[in-house]
Amino acid sequence: MSHRVLSARRRWRKTFRRQGAAIMQSVGRHPFYAGIAGTFLAAAMACLTFMTLYDGRADALSHAHQTSENLVAIISSDVARNVEIYDLSLEAMVDSAEDPATWLLIGRLRQSVLFDRATTAAYLGGAYIVDANGHVLASQNGELNPTVRLDDRDYFTAQQRSPAMGLFVSHPFHSRLRGGNLSIGLTRRINAQGGAFAGVALLAIRIEYFERLLDTISTGEAGSVFIVLDDGTLLARKPFKESDVGTSIASSDMFIRMAAHEQGSYVTASVVDGVKRIFTYAHVPGTPLIAVVAPAVTDVLAEWRKRSLIAGGLTMALGGVFVVLSWLLAFTLQDKIRAQAELVRLAATDPLTGLSNRRVLDTRLDEEWRRARRNGSPMSVLFVDVDHFKLFNDTYGHAAGDEVLATVSECIDSAVRRSVDLVARYGGEEFAVVLPDTSESGASLVAEKIRRKVQGLHLEHGNSDHGTVTVSVGCATCLPSRGGSALDLMAAADQQLYAAKSAGRNQVKSAA
Ligand code: GH3
Ligand code: MG
Ligand code: MG
Repeated sequence: MSHRVLSARRRWRKTFRRQGAAIMQSVGRHPFYAGIAGTFLAAAMACLTFMTLYDGRADALSHAHQTSENLVAIISSDVARNVEIYDLSLEAMVDSAEDPATWLLIGRLRQSVLFDRATTAAYLGGAYIVDANGHVLASQNGELNPTVRLDDRDYFTAQQRSPAMGLFVSHPFHSRLRGGNLSIGLTRRINAQGGAFAGVALLAIRIEYFERLLDTISTGEAGSVFIVLDDGTLLARKPFKESDVGTSIASSDMFIRMAAHEQGSYVTASVVDGVKRIFTYAHVPGTPLIAVVAPAVTDVLAEWRKRSLIAGGLTMALGGVFVVLSWLLAFTLQDKIRAQAELVRLAATDPLTGLSNRRVLDTRLDEEWRRARRNGSPMSVLFVDVDHFKLFNDTYGHAAGDEVLATVSECIDSAVRRSVDLVARYGGEEFAVVLPDTSESGASLVAEKIRRKVQGLHLEHGNSDHGTVTVSVGCATCLPSRGGSALDLMAAADQQLYAAKSAGRNQVKSAA
């Protein structure tokens, strides 16, 4: 591997590590980021899963739609082929019936001329020649019933009315010639010479044909499949109920759409049983029939629903666990940060007075010294010492002494206003005040304010000349840019303190 690739990798690793550390630091500072990030991640994962599941639903519906289209095509082509065969038979029957020579023949001869070219399909109920009055003139099986009239049937009146009717497909009826058998009739008009109506050639098709055809189509438990006339009359339906045959669905929205388009698909609740189904339909070519395949939405989506429940449930459960863990981590981190901050605070604080301790004083003194040296600004320090404190302890006890130290420290702290100023317990009953960017006069003012405020506390001290607790303050100011050190400045302040003590205590002494 080339040197350049290696160094690029090293660079990447370094950047990656630095970014990682930055993220960890940021989480360390704001522990709730971990909880928020965890929640966001879980939500994003849940969104992704639900989007995928939703796609799966669309796929299942589209697959069902395609299957339905194929089934409709199968039904349609079977019906169309059969009707075509029946129609060829009818045309042959009409040809023979319109030939006057046929009627000159007698018995079996006429029978064979009329019906020999007629089909003998399994579900054919019968083939008949009916005269202009509705009487059966001839039948394929040779039986004639002179009492039966068929001139009220729709397949008869339609042909009677309209010479150009062509093939007519009737509504379902109970046969008068075959013991009430439920059938539909296919007819063609027979014309006398000159075009007058001379009757009809009739093929009765048993509804059973449609039933058997629909039986071969599988549409799931709650699915249905049916064949309907283009005026809304139901011919056959699976699941089959004889009372459904002949009923009209013409007024339903579902049918209005079917009638208006050659083929199509839509989802709606069935008018027959109220079940929501995907209706896919097509008009059977050359006939007034519409084939409809309608699997129930619940069946189509059953498998998808099962899978979605498992996947969705698992996603929610895992996401929930992930969110809980993220927030646990966040709260734990927060507790840790609080504890750490408390430790840092304790390490920097004097326990009796709550002021900064000697360690903080040394650090800040050094920092402020260097800053003042850079900026060329002055810097002052004060040494504050409680007067005759040993005597106080001896008189009032050590516990009372502690109390006084706490009160005095508070008093000193309240006299120092600027945020950059620092009040620290130097040790024992001595306090140090660091005043960055403060001149000698400014420092003296602060020192005097401290002295006056402590005296103003009026804390009884019977063994002191002043009768109350007082402090002596030594001030020192310098320009660090001119050299020297912070320790020199402290020593100068200490000297002034000594001078103040010597001069009778409860006073301020300054050195430039
Ligand atoms: P001077 O006016 O010269 O400063 O006299 P002083 O007695 O205050 O000074 P000295 O240094 O002799 O005594 C300081 C005393 O402060 C010694 C000790 O009893 C007392 N002291 C130091 N630290 C504490 C403390 O934390 N609590 C209490 N109660 N007393 C303390
Ligand atoms: Mg002292
Ligand atoms: Mg003292």
